[in-house]
Amino acid sequence: MVIIMLGAPGTGKGTVASILTEKLGIPQVSTGDIFRKNIKEGTELGKIADTYISKGNLVPDDITIEIVKDRLNQKDVENGLILDGFPRTVEQAEALEKMLEEKNKKVDIVVNLTTPEEEIIERIVNRRVCSNQECKTIYNLVLNPPKKEGICDKCGSKLIQRKDDNVETVKSRLDNYFKLTSPLIEYYENKGVLKTEVVSESINKLGKDVAEEIVELFK
Ligand code: ADP
Ligand code: ZN
Repeated sequence: MVIIMLGAPGTGKGTVASILTEKLGIPQVSTGDIFRKNIKEGTELGKIADTYISKGNLVPDDITIEIVKDRLNQKDVENGLILDGFPRTVEQAEALEKMLEEKNKKVDIVVNLTTPEEEIIERIVNRRVCSNQECKTIYNLVLNPPKKEGICDKCGSKLIQRKDDNVETVKSRLDNYFKLTSPLIEYYENKGVLKTEVVSESINKLGKDVAEEIVELFK
């Protein structure tokens, strides 16, 4: 089973993906997480990725595609995976199709999350994440605050704010989303695998509600 999480930054891709991972028992592969891990460890890839990510730009396709290709060759994704944040361009989507074809796999469903822009910005500046790489639980200081300030409910590690989660960077992340990523909506609609879900406080629907609906589809 191959599930893709599509959507602008701050729509809840990571939140939905981590619930799906738990409920469906298949790993979550987040290109953003892979880049952040490399930046933290100071690898060559991390140094290159950081120059793009810190400006709110996409990491070039050739680099990103290569990383996903490697990841798809690992054993734990044989029975399926949830791609969170990949593909983000048509070129990446086409490359993914080829990679999956070689493994006799296909994209089963693309969960396209949409959220009103004002809510997105609000969410991104209030987002905090668990610093423990094994946990990475996502919080929102307003919508979903931790019980104890600055501490992860699940594992007790410190919560941090992502370096790119600020008002300045978010603007270019959104621009890039509309320019480069949103064409994928039509791309996957034409393939008959798109499922669009609104995530918005205004209708009282959060990532966890969407995740429940998706899990039902697979029952
Ligand atoms: P968000 O969806 O909130 O922007 P991610 O963790 O998915 O967060 O991505 C963080 C950053 O990592 C992106 O802004 C981009 O710079 C880079 N990135 C992640 N995935 C990709 C991708 N598939 N292609 C290019 N850049 C990516
Ligand atoms: Zn934690």
